[in-house]
Amino acid sequence: MPVKCKADCGRNAVLKRPKTSDALCKDCFFAAFEAEVHYTIISNDLFKKGEKVAVAASGGKDSTVLAYILKLLNDRHDYGLDLVLLSIDEGITGYRDDSLETVKQNRDDYQIPLKILSYDELYGWTMDRIVEQIGRKNNCTFCGVFRRQALDRGAKLLQVDSIATGHNADDIAETVLMNILRGDTARLGRCTAIRTGSGEDTIARVKPLKYTYEKEIVMYAHYKKLVYFSTECVFAPNAYRGHARAFLKDLERVRPSVIMDIIHSGEQLKFKETVKKPERGTCGRCGFVSSQQPCKACILLEGLNRGLPKLGIGKKSKGDRMRAKQDQELALRERANLVKNDF
Ligand code: SF4
Ligand code: ZN
Repeated sequence: MPVKCKADCGRNAVLKRPKTSDALCKDCFFAAFEAEVHYTIISNDLFKKGEKVAVAASGGKDSTVLAYILKLLNDRHDYGLDLVLLSIDEGITGYRDDSLETVKQNRDDYQIPLKILSYDELYGWTMDRIVEQIGRKNNCTFCGVFRRQALDRGAKLLQVDSIATGHNADDIAETVLMNILRGDTARLGRCTAIRTGSGEDTIARVKPLKYTYEKEIVMYAHYKKLVYFSTECVFAPNAYRGHARAFLKDLERVRPSVIMDIIHSGEQLKFKETVKKPERGTCGRCGFVSSQQPCKACILLEGLNRGLPKLGIGKKSKGDRMRAKQDQELALRERANLVKNDF
């Protein structure tokens, strides 16, 4: 016999909600899903009326659902937000070029303007060329650092008040675990924050899907028939996150609430005063937000342009030595050329 929807609507259930194990019909699942994201936005004061918000859009399931639901809730509850899609083109053939086509489809379907910024125009490098130079080992470090800054650059260009990202509950639980396993207390302290970086010269990042399970995002996109791109990056995987993800999935099988439990634990952590917190400032070279001088993006870029791609990987002292050695070699070569020219 068909199971009735738990919400007493009289319809038959078609799915079991991963978050609550409730059997629901499609419409009651949509209503519950949307009401929870709305509650997250309202109870955390994520936006103010009249704000301009950039949705970081990759074409993947999370950002597609985020763009769709922000548009829907903005209209339904009159948030008064001016939404815009912001995409970063890392220059990865066979991955980003295809996923950007999906974002363009989202732009047309949801009637939200789109701005695409590329690594090539911002840094003079594409990820394809970076990987050619550095190999497949630290590629995600370059990509992640450049993307973070590219979003800030895009946000400044578009004059938005905040950037909404599609991080979901699973991503955040994984990040908590990764920071514990790495002993990275500075990042552990801020990785559960739903809003980060709001200051005079920084653009706030907000995560409206912070409490939304990945499985439910996939279900929502599936039943709403949203168009999204699901192929993995050709330069993946990020091995360390992969371990945290596999571990979390194992735990989830025996304890379905583990994702929320880990986020809750992360939120409750208190740190000793002696734990170093990164001091946010602006990079003296590029003028974008940074907790070091110059910022990581500028050091990585300098390394690429000097032909020293490992310059920004590892300890600063090692980078300083590499830089000094290359400067010395260049000076010697120049002197040798001068001597030759004398003849
Ligand atoms: Fe960039 Fe790595 Fe993600 Fe690919 S997997 S998009 S290289 S961060
Ligand atoms: Zn910089």
